[in-house]
Amino acid sequence: MKRVFALLFTFVWAVVCLGTTMAQTTAQKTDKVAERAKKLHFSSLVLDTHIDVTPKLQTDWKFAERHTTGHIDLPRMKEGGLNGLFFSIYMSGTVTGPKAVNDSLQRIAAVHKLAEDMPDQVLLCRTAADIRKAHKQGKIAGLMGMEGGHMINNSLPLLRMYAELGVRYLTLTHSVNTDWADSSGDQPKHNGLTDFGKDVVRELNRLGMLVDISHVSDKTFWDALAVSNAPMIASHSSCRAISGHPRNMTDEMIKALAAKGGVIQINYLDSFIDPQLFEYTQKTQAARRELLQKYQNEPRETVLPKIREELAAQFGAPPKASWERIVEHIDHAVKLVGADHVGLGSDFDGGSMPVGMEDCTKLPQITEALLRKGYKEQDVRKILGGNTVRLLEDVERAAKKLRTVK
Ligand SMILES: [Zn+2]
Repeated sequence: MKRVFALLFTFVWAVVCLGTTMAQTTAQKTDKVAERAKKLHFSSLVLDTHIDVTPKLQTDWKFAERHTTGHIDLPRMKEGGLNGLFFSIYMSGTVTGPKAVNDSLQRIAAVHKLAEDMPDQVLLCRTAADIRKAHKQGKIAGLMGMEGGHMINNSLPLLRMYAELGVRYLTLTHSVNTDWADSSGDQPKHNGLTDFGKDVVRELNRLGMLVDISHVSDKTFWDALAVSNAPMIASHSSCRAISGHPRNMTDEMIKALAAKGGVIQINYLDSFIDPQLFEYTQKTQAARRELLQKYQNEPRETVLPKIREELAAQFGAPPKASWERIVEHIDHAVKLVGADHVGLGSDFDGGSMPVGMEDCTKLPQITEALLRKGYKEQDVRKILGGNTVRLLEDVERAAKKLRTVK
C-alpha cells in the first residue's frame, strides 16, 4: 500500500512539475515577444501620416506639455514611440476662396513656428532624406499634409507655393466636393475628376507631392489613379471589406493602389474600423449633421463629446470599438497586397478613438500584436513608417524624371 502511495505521489508531483515548467515556458515566450516588440517599436521610425493637432498649435496650447485631453503632445509621443507625423493642414471644405487660403497659410505658419521654437525636438521635413536625418538625430520628423483641394482655390500657382512652404501631400477633397473633384461625403457632381482636377494630379506629380486619395469618391480615386505618374497615398483610410464606411477603401481599390506602388495608411477612428459602430453612425447621421451645424463655431474637441452625449440621449449608447480592430484592418490589407503597401494614418485629434487606443502612448501594442501574429520584424518596421519614406522617395524620383522630360 505504501508503495502505491509513493508511486501515486511521484506521479502527481511529476504532473505538477511538468505543468509548472510548461506554464513558465509559455510565460517566458510571452515576455520574449513583449520584449522584442518594445525593442523593435522604440528603435523604429514610427511615422503617422495624418494627425489633426495643428489647429491647437494656433492657440496657447503647448505641444511640449503633457495634456489629459486630445491624443498627442510631445511627452506622450515620446512615451508611445511616435517620432514622425504629418501635421494636417485641416480645414472644413465649406471654407473656400481667399478665406481658405488665408486660414491655411496661418496653419502652415503655426507648424513652421513650432519647428523654429523647438529646434532640438522637432525637425520640419520635406524629403525622405530629411525624415531619416530627424530619426538619426532623435528628433520628431514633422511634415505637413494639406487636407482638402479647396485650399488651392482653383490655382496651380498657389499649389506650387504650398509645395515651397513644405506641404508634402494634398488630399484632393475633404468631406465635400471641390470645384474639380467629387468627395465620398457628398453627392457626385463631376463624375470624379474634372479636366482641371487631372491637371492638379499632374502638377502634384511634377512637384513631388503625394496625391492623397483619402476622402475622395470612388470615381475620383479611379480617375486619379489613371492620371497619376507616381504612386499615391491614402493618408488615413481603412478597409471597406471589414467596415462599410465610404471613407474606407474596397479590396479592389487597395489592390489597384498597391499595384502602382501606393500605400494605404490605416485610420484608427472607431466609427471607421468597427462595422457595428458604423451602422450606428449611419442611423444617427442626419441628427449628427444638424448638431455639427449648431455648434460649428465651437472647438472640435469640446463639440465632439457634446454631440456624442446628445446622440446617446436620443438613439441610445453607441457600441464600443476595440483597438484590436486597427490590427485587423492592417492585417486585412497586408494579406491583400503585402506588407510593402500598408502604414499608419491614425486621425489622432480628428475624432473618437477605439477603446484601448485612447492616445498615442498606446501605439507599442500595435507592434506587439503584429509580432504575435507572426509578422517579421522587417515588415513591422515597414508598416510603422518605412513604407511612407519609401513612397516619398518614389514620388521624389518620379518628379525628378518628369521635370527633366522636356
Ligand atoms: Zn480626414
